[in-house]
Amino acid sequence: MDAIDWDQTIRKLGKKSTPQRRAILTALSRMNRPATVEEIFVAVREHHETSISTVYRNLELLFSEGLTTKQGFPGEKTRYCLKREHHEHTLVCIDCQKIVTITGCPLESYAIEVGRRENFVVVDHRMEMYGYCQQCNHLRGRLSK
Ligand SMILES: [Zn+2]
Ligand SMILES: [Zn+2]
Repeated sequence: MDAIDWDQTIRKLGKKSTPQRRAILTALSRMNRPATVEEIFVAVREHHETSISTVYRNLELLFSEGLTTKQGFPGEKTRYCLKREHHEHTLVCIDCQKIVTITGCPLESYAIEVGRRENFVVVDHRMEMYGYCQQCNHLRGRLSK
């Protein structure tokens, strides 16, 4: 996970790649679980001069840039987590096993909502949909005639 080039990632967003921001992202990828501002602050402070308000400000910025997600239960501290890279879902053809990859995820907010309801910190999910691709569907149509 540490191999991720955070410098590039931040620059691609048109933001300044500061050591603080890179340190926060590195800390999050090392922890690999939703962490509070305090926990992230402690991890970043090991290598960088920083303050908790700086960490908080940068976390909010990284969140608004879509690099992190945040969640929390009522009455509890907000937890930040690295947004998974290359998150995708698939359509699988039952007949020929062809796999179509769907970009974009409709489940992010649903997963957090379910987590709140069930008192569960959801960090990942999987979803596959099964059916027939265009070719197979066409073939099936012909066969059933
Ligand atoms: Zn097929
Ligand atoms: Zn998803």
